[in-house]
Amino acid sequence: MPKPRRSRTVQPPARAAALPRHGGLAVPWITGWFDGRPYFGVNFPVRRSQAVTYRLCQFCRQPLGRRIGLVVRPADTSAGYVDEPGMHPECLDYAVAVCPMLNGAMDHYRSGPPATVAGLLASTPARAGKPAEAYEAWFITPSGYEIAYAADGMVLGIRLDVPVLMKRPVRAAAHPRLTDEHAALLRQVLALESSPEGLTTP
Ligand SMILES: [Zn+2]
Repeated sequence: MPKPRRSRTVQPPARAAALPRHGGLAVPWITGWFDGRPYFGVNFPVRRSQAVTYRLCQFCRQPLGRRIGLVVRPADTSAGYVDEPGMHPECLDYAVAVCPMLNGAMDHYRSGPPATVAGLLASTPARAGKPAEAYEAWFITPSGYEIAYAADGMVLGIRLDVPVLMKRPVRAAAHPRLTDEHAALLRQVLALESSPEGLTTP
């Protein structure tokens, strides 16, 4: 008896074809690598800042277009800016489809990479281990794209007190789009990453 096909595999958008793959998933340009392995959810600080400043997509690194997607949490709304750079709508859709934090497959942030990795990437994830928050996708236009700066001139992120074309809940809406195959794959990848060998924690 032929095995029923469970669901289609999510493919990255064509513009992201050149991105490296890890475990079958396209690795976002902004994602930090250590020891030949990507750490999903841990961003290269320099790339984050570059993307925000030069209006690049954090996923595929190409210039953002007429519609700019932002992934926004309640804490970001309170802060008035989102520290994660923007994405093309199609890149955002792919990220939501395959990222367990964005699509609700995971309900807690994972513990985060070892301190050495976090230190190297200069990004200590304050969210590690905490319950996942609600995520929304906001879409803005280039004229509404404004950078939030700290008093010392450091790039904080993209301002949220601007005209927003559309807001859409991503965790609830995206959940059915994650294939069983991807969910299993991601669990495997994340489990592997939670106890990397050859790394020492000071
Ligand atoms: Zn993109």
